[in-house]
Amino acid sequence: MDPMRLNGHCLCGAVRYCADGAASDITHCHCASCRRASGAGFVSWFTVRADQVRWSGEGRAIYHSSTTVERGFCPRCGSTLSYRHASDPGLIDLTVATLDDPAALTPTSHCWWSEHLPWAEPSRLGELPCHPHALDAI
Ligand SMILES: [Zn+2]
Ligand SMILES: [Zn+2]
Repeated sequence: MDPMRLNGHCLCGAVRYCADGAASDITHCHCASCRRASGAGFVSWFTVRADQVRWSGEGRAIYHSSTTVERGFCPRCGSTLSYRHASDPGLIDLTVATLDDPAALTPTSHCWWSEHLPWAEPSRLGELPCHPHALDAI
């Protein structure tokens, strides 16, 4: 497998992408918009050149969360897939968790820490019990 090629897809598989070139800015974003868009406590992104991403399958749906921000998602299953800012249209962010191998990239920072939730503190996360599967029914 070419280490410079990153393939990914949404939950239902209707939208797929293939990104060539080096990934940069691999980061956990804690901004309130990413939380709302994904329904998750924070969202892990990587950045590639937009012209090096090929999309296949059904087209992404785009939601403009502001006049300068495009958020891409699967119109069938809703997976959060991409982020692009008008100030940097040559770059696109893709979600690490939608990679075919989400462990292939390791985030190296947190961004928008000014908006993080108290329970997303690394120390708080680290003290939680870890269950191998679903929580046991009571
Ligand atoms: Zn989908
Ligand atoms: Zn964000």
